[in-house]
Order: sequence, then C-alpha cells, then structure tokens
Amino acid sequence: MLIVMRHGATEQEVARVVAVIKDMGYEARPMPGVQRTAVGLVGNDGRADASRLEGLPGVQEVIHVTRPYKQVSREWQPESTVVRLPGGVSIGGTEVTVIAGPCSVESESQILEAARQVKDAGAAILRGGAWKPRSSPYSFQGLGKSALKLLAKARAEVGILICTEAMDPESIGPISEVADIIQIGARNMQNFSLLKAAGRARKPVLLKRGMSATIEELLLSAEYLFAEGNREVILCERGIRGFDTATRNVFDLTAIPVVHKLSHLPIIADPSHGTGLRDKVIPMARAAVAAGADGIMVEVHPDPESALSDGAQSLFPEQFTQLMKELRVIAEVIGRRVAEPASVGA
Ligand code: PEP
Ligand code: MN
Repeated sequence: MLIVMRHGATEQEVARVVAVIKDMGYEARPMPGVQRTAVGLVGNDGRADASRLEGLPGVQEVIHVTRPYKQVSREWQPESTVVRLPGGVSIGGTEVTVIAGPCSVESESQILEAARQVKDAGAAILRGGAWKPRSSPYSFQGLGKSALKLLAKARAEVGILICTEAMDPESIGPISEVADIIQIGARNMQNFSLLKAAGRARKPVLLKRGMSATIEELLLSAEYLFAEGNREVILCERGIRGFDTATRNVFDLTAIPVVHKLSHLPIIADPSHGTGLRDKVIPMARAAVAAGADGIMVEVHPDPESALSDGAQSLFPEQFTQLMKELRVIAEVIGRRVAEPASVGA
C-alpha cells in the first residue's frame, strides 16, 4: 500500500502516518519526492486496512499496489531507478552501459589483457567470474578467492569497474570489497538465503533471470533485495529454456519492454548466454539496445579458443570493438548514449 501525501504536507503529518503504520504492525518507508512525499507500507501479504490512514491530516490518497511485488513496481515508484556507480557511471538513465569481459577469471595476464581490451573499446565495467556455477562438477569451477585479487588488480591498474558473481552468502563480504556490482546468476535467482545476504550488502546487485523463471518471479526475487534494504538493483535478461536446440537459450527480448512497464528498475541484456553462439551475440546485442535495454553484458575473451568456460559465445576483442561502434549509433537513434568508461583506480 502506498500513502500519497498532499503537496506541502508537513513533516509532522508524514511522521503521524509513519507512526500509524507502525502501530498497525507494518513497516513504513517514507519516500520524499519532488512533487510530494509518499509513504510505503510494507510487510502485508494481503490487503491492509486503509481506513485508519485515509482520514489522517495531509493524506491525499491511499493506493493499493496490486502486484505481488511491491517496492520494485512502477505503481510504487513511477520514476525509473538510476543505479549510480563510482566514476560517474550509472545504469538506468539515458545512458546505455556496457559490461564486458571473459566468462571466468583464468589468470593475471588473461584478466588484465581483457580489462584493457574492453576498456579501450569503451566498456564501462569489466565482468569475470571468480566462482563459476557449472553444470558439470568436472568443469572449471573458477579460481575462487585468488580471482578476486586479480579483479582488484585489474580495477586498480586499468581503471575499470568490476562486476563478479556471488554463489553463496559467505562470498558476499569478500566480493563486496572488490566489486562495484555483485552478480547473482540465473541458477541462483531463487536462492533466497543468497538474495537476503545480497540485500544486506552495500553494493549494487545485478540479478539475472532464472532460465525457467517468469518475469513475475524475477521481480519477486528483486523484491527480496529491496525487502532487506538494497534498492540498487539491476535486472538482466539472459535467455530462457526453450525446446529448440539451435541456440543455447531463447533470448527473450520482449522481457525488456515488459519489465520497463512493470518495474522502475533498470534492465540490461546478456546476449552471450542468451544465444550461446558468438555470431548470434552481435545482432542480438544490437537488437537489445534498440529495444531499450539499459545496458548489455557481453562475454569477450583475449583468446576465445583457449577459454576455460563459454569460449564458443565469447567475442574476439576486435568483434567487440566493432560492436561498440555500432551500439553508439543505435543508442543515438533512440535518444540515448553509450556510457563512457569510468576513471577509477588507475
Ligand atoms: C555468467 O554470467 O557467466 C553466467 C554464469 O550467467 P548465467 O547465470 O546467466 O548463466
Ligand atoms: Mn559465462
């Protein structure tokens, strides 16, 4: 439920609404806006009784949020969320922000080279997994903690922001020390203890859509992060399971405008996992920007043929450079701009 205050409502009137909400046994989230303040009521699974709130001084209207997800819905917050990162980079405004890099951190030389290549091409954020969720226990599992040190080195030496995946609640702490964005992967979208831990972290979270998750489930998982107090959430469409084996996943481009309508959160697209095939990544990345994605995440490897994971879908650095040039043109056509790399660390 959302209690919208009249324009010019006093602080005391807002405080009274907050007190009544608490007295009703719920939590109150005051949200000062440019035009007027709204107070969100959270903690009710069904329909809270609005009658005690409707008549309070300064209250203009009480809106029942109809979606099962509350705080991430557009009903709750009509303005789009902009997640701000160090170095003036942001995700969710007019800029299109590019996250690029290898699937996994493999060695110091590999990640440093990748960092330089993607930054030179214009990516604002370097990706690279330290811990990898692999279908087979015999596949490369990631270098673990030592990869975090390498990512920190890439951040400091190359001056690029870092996005890396957390697979369990224990890794959130160490990852938060290095990463600018904590990634929660498709397989963990409904790992609720991980979501709760990430919700308590002081870092933005990139939440990827589960491979068989509905958009409503994606938004409910984002709600977990909000419920724990983390409002810096970026969603990611990365393809869903289909019956056709022609591509690794079915890249659901429609999710971009659907999510923009239902939620104020930014959504980026990952055509690498979405298609699984290098030559399909480029056209789908272009399409995602044209469809209004707030950014893209693409796998790029200095030498894809020797990659320890996801080599077949990783772009060669030259392909990525060309893609970035194309994305700048496409972004401009729809009144947006590709975000410049940050000046951090270096
Ligand atoms: C990844 O980003 O490398 C990854 C494992 O992605 P997803 O969780 O979307 O499969
Ligand atoms: Mn990958």
